[in-house]
Amino acid sequence: MAQQDDSFKKVIAHSKEYGFIFPSSEIYDGLSATYDYGPFGSELKNNIKQYWWKAMVQMHENIVGLDAAIFMHPKTWKASGHVDAFNDPLIDNKDSKKRYRADVLVEDFVEKINQKITKDITKAKKRFGDEFNETEFRATNGNVLRRQAQMDEIEARFQKALEAENLEEVRQIIIDLEIACPLSGSKNWAEVKQFNLMFATQIGATAENSNTVYLRPETAQGIFVNFLNVLNTSRQKVPFGIAQIGKAFRNEIVARQFIFRMREFEQMEMQFFVKPGTEKKWYEYWKEKRQQWHAALGLGDDMYRFHDHLKMAHYANAAADIEFNFPFGFKELEGIHSRTDFDLKQHQNLSGKKLQYFDLEENKNLVPYVVETSIGLDRMFLAVLSASYKEEVVDEAKGTSRVVLKIPPVLAPFKVAVFPLTKKDGMPEKAKEIFNELRFETNCYYEEKDNIGKRYRRQDAVGTPYCITVDQQTLEDNTVTIRERDSMEQERIPVAKVAEIVNARCSWKNVLS
Ligand code: ATP
Repeated sequence: MAQQDDSFKKVIAHSKEYGFIFPSSEIYDGLSATYDYGPFGSELKNNIKQYWWKAMVQMHENIVGLDAAIFMHPKTWKASGHVDAFNDPLIDNKDSKKRYRADVLVEDFVEKINQKITKDITKAKKRFGDEFNETEFRATNGNVLRRQAQMDEIEARFQKALEAENLEEVRQIIIDLEIACPLSGSKNWAEVKQFNLMFATQIGATAENSNTVYLRPETAQGIFVNFLNVLNTSRQKVPFGIAQIGKAFRNEIVARQFIFRMREFEQMEMQFFVKPGTEKKWYEYWKEKRQQWHAALGLGDDMYRFHDHLKMAHYANAAADIEFNFPFGFKELEGIHSRTDFDLKQHQNLSGKKLQYFDLEENKNLVPYVVETSIGLDRMFLAVLSASYKEEVVDEAKGTSRVVLKIPPVLAPFKVAVFPLTKKDGMPEKAKEIFNELRFETNCYYEEKDNIGKRYRRQDAVGTPYCITVDQQTLEDNTVTIRERDSMEQERIPVAKVAEIVNARCSWKNVLS
């Protein structure tokens, strides 16, 4: 755990030092759970957005885009259930005066048991080598079976308590499990209370005429209320999807873990409208598609796992999370939900407008069912950043090391940096000439300050896949050295080949096909 904390702290410090993420309004000591993206961060964030948009909209003929307003009619949130049910169960520790989400305390407890199982499996793998069969081990090993049964029992009891909204029982579970306040170790818990997560504000000039509006807590509702507009204007037919990237706001109580849990964040959501009865098929389809999207980045298959929901949201009939191995353990990165016709029916009821399509097979109007994929852009950013952060020994004898961000090349903020070896003999002019030509092809960075070794290190630290150096020989034969970030290998190539090499490695096609 201490090692995990340590590596997380390093990622946070690195992202500030190199202009990826700053605390919001830092000169006023920051605002909790809000962050700003710096010069390198905004590039990386844009690239993640592009990857999602291209994969979902550009590569699917049956998905179209939308950019809905953040403010929506207040009835939207009544219809969606957010006014009445968008609550977190909170529990205060009486001694430390710290506030926690009850469900997170229980989930963390269960995760600790799960980690013990993982440890048992790792040990057994070492002992048995190639002979080891994990499925069989899980089905027969006494310790694993006992722990699994304990996890199942806690989860079932907790799910029942949440579904019945039995807050007294939720507290009792925390007491029975002897869960202690992570800060103080105290087990002195107050009662559990529900807390609504929506931010409210006023619209209108005068107090008498003003109306309460909410900052949207999810982008999905903008899609639902536009279902008919899109259906009527896009020439799409069910099944089809609407995709959107945009800000969402939640008054998170336990806001910690850097950009993992923010009060203002961005979501990339897609609602896929399907014929009722076909939603399970599409749910499985999108689970697999989304898994492929992640796998194509090459962050490592073992960094992901699926987790079926403990507590189903009020609208869903099936739901799973794609969890990522963040520096603080496996946590939700993306949700895939089969949302039934709950939202559209609710909007029909409150607006009095029909939200249906004509089903040719059934020869009647139907309210479609919806399968949703919803990923937090900021969480994806954290996933990419933390998985890419590496500390490497460069030369053992000399004791030199480097920090390198092995960001998937297609997402790297800058694809290539161009350096003159020295600031004289016409090298900067030649380097600028190459840079000015290359910037039409890709996002490049020009630098002439400090010695070349330092410049390489700086580009490693921001994840630039290639560095090009212009030297004396360039002026004679129009060749440059190209250095690759991960291997640090250098090669001499004609200037004309630079764009080809860089584009081949950083092409969207590599991850989209
Ligand atoms: P959690 O259980 O972690 O609070 P959630 O289940 O409430 O998340 P959803 O409502 O399913 O999250 O939202 C979809 C996605 O939006 C999440 O998978 C996550 O990536 C992102 N997300 C949700 N809340 C936040 C937040 N406060 N900060 C950053 N990203 C968030």
